Amino acid sequence: MRLHATGRPLVREPLELPEPADHQVVLKVRACGVCRTDLHVVDGELLDQPLPIVPGHEIVGEIVGRGAAVAWPAGARVGVPWLGYTCGSCEFCLSGRENLCDSARFTGYQIDGGYAGHVLADARYCLKLPETIDDVHAAPLLCAGLIGYRSWKMTGEAQRLGIYGFGAAAHIVAQVARFRGQEVYAFTRPGDSAAQSFAAQLGAKWTGDSDRMPPVQLDAAIIFAPIGQLVPQALRCLKKGGTLVCGGIHMSDIPQFPYALLWGERTIRSVANLTRRDGEEFLELAARIPVQTHVETFRLEAANDALDRLRNGRLSGAAVLIP
Ligand SMILES: [Zn+2]
Ligand SMILES: [Zn+2]
Repeated sequence: MRLHATGRPLVREPLELPEPADHQVVLKVRACGVCRTDLHVVDGELLDQPLPIVPGHEIVGEIVGRGAAVAWPAGARVGVPWLGYTCGSCEFCLSGRENLCDSARFTGYQIDGGYAGHVLADARYCLKLPETIDDVHAAPLLCAGLIGYRSWKMTGEAQRLGIYGFGAAAHIVAQVARFRGQEVYAFTRPGDSAAQSFAAQLGAKWTGDSDRMPPVQLDAAIIFAPIGQLVPQALRCLKKGGTLVCGGIHMSDIPQFPYALLWGERTIRSVANLTRRDGEEFLELAARIPVQTHVETFRLEAANDALDRLRNGRLSGAAVLIP
């Protein structure tokens, strides 16, 4: 399912798969999650979008072809995340921050992704998946889970954690936070009672509309919704010294706000991409908790429907495509 022009539906068409180079694997796709970033790709909201492109960066696949330098055995089940390539030699790669690599390339954005029957991937960026989690439930761990985990790590050990936007990433982070004994305060778009009861089922201590104040001040908050207005709104709910993490790749403009909202050593930061280390840490933790992802499955051919449902907020949990 390939994007030829931004703002247009994906087109189903056959593609030739090249032979794998030394470090590459050919995967038969078993499941591929649908992420909000795929919407930003399709809608042309990211810089320098190469076209045509096959979206999809939450890929669970089985190795059916491999280059000479690949360590994974044939038949192994692996996960392919957003981070598809790094240079290994820039200042970011050399300081444990390959997520910020100057020459990084990303799956489903610059490298053809998993909205397909088969995909070519660099084996050095594939991740080992917990055996206890099946294909469909593992797919959302590969971005919603990973970026959610990195965002959660940036909040430190916040006792009271706010989460704005209760979709795929939030429903995983809420389980991690509860596992660590934190209180979760879940904010949804105003009036979205379905998302609020979903958050309550996952153990949120409080749920409410995003324009409301929680009953207590929060130690930290994560914004997953791509809405800049939530930044001053979330700052209002933070205790002194609190951290606000913006977990999305794209957000509408942040409106001007009084300095008093930031005063008191409050911090705002973004989270970009992931490192392979994040992947290893999170997938190990996800198996231990164990994280239970809530999914809605679609046939690969219905990728445009799945994207529309996500755009309109008509999904609970995560959409997953099955070829
Ligand atoms: Zn680099
Ligand atoms: Zn993603």
